Formats: sequence, C-alpha cells, structure tokens
Amino acid sequence: MTITDEIDYPIDTLPAPGTAASVAPGIAWVRMPLPFALDHINLWLLDDGDALTAVDTGFGLDPIKTHWSQILDADPRPLSRLIVTHCHPDHLGLATWLCARDGASLHMTQGEFLGGHALWHQQPGYSVIDMIEQFRRHGLDAARLDALADRGNGYRRGVPEMPQHYHRLFAGDRLTVGAHEWEVIVGYGHAPEHASLYCAALGVLISGDMLLPRISTNISVFAATPDDDPLGWFLDSLHRINHLPRNTLVLPSHGKPFRGIQARVAQLVEHHRERCAALLAECTTARSAGELLGTLFPRELDTHQVMFAMGEAIAHMNHLVKQGVLRRVEGEDGTIRFIKTG
Ligand SMILES: [Zn+2]
Repeated sequence: MTITDEIDYPIDTLPAPGTAASVAPGIAWVRMPLPFALDHINLWLLDDGDALTAVDTGFGLDPIKTHWSQILDADPRPLSRLIVTHCHPDHLGLATWLCARDGASLHMTQGEFLGGHALWHQQPGYSVIDMIEQFRRHGLDAARLDALADRGNGYRRGVPEMPQHYHRLFAGDRLTVGAHEWEVIVGYGHAPEHASLYCAALGVLISGDMLLPRISTNISVFAATPDDDPLGWFLDSLHRINHLPRNTLVLPSHGKPFRGIQARVAQLVEHHRERCAALLAECTTARSAGELLGTLFPRELDTHQVMFAMGEAIAHMNHLVKQGVLRRVEGEDGTIRFIKTG
C-alpha cells in the first residue's frame, strides 16, 4: 500500500440540510448548500457547556438562514460564539446575521477581518477593477475580461453585511470550548490569515479550506501584492500540519471528514509539482498566465471559475519565478509573460 492509498472516510452519511449530525464527541456536522459548482460547505457546531460554538456560517442567502434557524431552534443551548476560519463568502457570509440573532461573539484573525473589508469595500488592490487590470496584464482575453467586469463584486453578494467588530485570533492561541482546548493553526496561501483548529485530546483538526480531501484548495495572487508566492506559502503551511498524528480526524469545509493527513498532503504536493512542471515545459518561449489557462484547466470554465483559474495560474508562475526557473518579462503595453531561465 502506498501512502496515497491511506485516506479513509469513516463517516458515510451526509447530514440533511437544516440538521446537525454528531461526528465526534461534542462536535456536530452541518452541511449547507452553495449556489455554485462547489455545491456545499461544511460547518461545525461545538458543545460549549451550556452554549454552542459555531465554526463558519455558510453563504449569505435566505435559505441558509432558514436552515440555521431550524438547527438552532432545535437546540435549547444558545449560540454564544462564532469562529470564522477565513473571509470567503461561504465561511463569513452570515456572520453579522448569526451574531445578531443569538448575541454570539465573533472570533477571527485580523488578516481575515481586514481582508474581507478590503474586498467588500473594494479597496485599492482588492477591487474588481484592479483584478481585471491584473488579469489583462497577465494575458486574459477581452471577452473573459468583459464577463468578469459584468459580474461585478461577487464578494458582496455572498456577504450582505460585513461585521464591524470581532475578537482577534492569533496563531497558537488556545481556545477552551466546553471540556476541550483547541489550538489555532494559521495557514497561508488560500486566504490572508486562515485559522484552522486542532484539538489534540479529541484527535480532530477543523481544517477549513487549508486541507480538502478531493479538491485542491484555490491559491490566488491579489493585485495589491502582485509578486506574492501564495503557492509556496500554502505548501509550507501543509508541511506545518503534516506532523499531526496520522489518525487525526480531519473536518474539511468541503467534502467528507477523513483520516490520512500525510497521504493527502503528499498528493497535494505532487499535484502542484506536476502543474509547475507542465507550465514550465510551455515556457521555452515567453508565455502569459492567460495563454496557459488551458494547460492548467483543460475544460470549459464559467466566469466564476475563470477568476479562480487565473489566480491559480499566476500563483504557479510566481512560484516558479521564486524558485529561479522562470523569469518575468514585461512588454511595452504592460503585458506580463514568463520564460525559462538558463
Ligand atoms: Zn476559502
């Protein structure tokens, strides 16, 4: 048996929308629908003594509020605390509504709070206009740029109201939830300062989007920091959770709970190594990220997916530049291309 065969899914039954199903002592799994190709998100409810702590909220839509009300009304304990792993709409979307509904306090990292506000308020370097200009320079065609412009600020659609205050989480914080202590593990590359939660006593990692069993976590470069290497940061972050015990139950935001951190990390490292090799092979002449979208994603992409795909392509190119095997070449019109060094 190779290490990559060692991923198992100990829980077969999916909780129905509007219900919570126990997955470990004091931990219930809530599965909410999502309005795009990635069709669901997992949220977690933790037993916090005479109250409940929730991890993440689901997308900011009325049907999700209805599911939440069903779940919370069925439990005599109030929701006293909400922990948000990161600022993406499917995780943060209903934070303001949930906290107001039950008087819960909100806990997240500063990077996620500020990053969310930068997207919501269309701050310089985080606006749709800046993203489109970044993608134009990276060679995305006019038709797809227009489709992205027409789509507007998708972030606000998923987060109808941004929270105005929060309790700041730091890497290494230990949170007491009911009878257990959870350590905050901060990871990079997918979102500004993503918080995962690890409970050694229960042998459980709430991984958020930092470790997913079937899909590869999206890695993107913001226009504000065009030379970032989020793929490098993501791989470093994976190596930092790779030492957790082999039988840790991972509760991911998408897909089913699984065991086999080391096997999954090995698969993801290999996946990105292959993608980097495929892109590098194309760059014997100067190529742009836009031109190489088909190398990374040989299928039809909708507008929402083009945004993630471009982020991913630029991230891989920047990673290869950091490794010294690609060089960035800027054209007179500002177009950015990459060519093999040496
Ligand atoms: Zn995310």
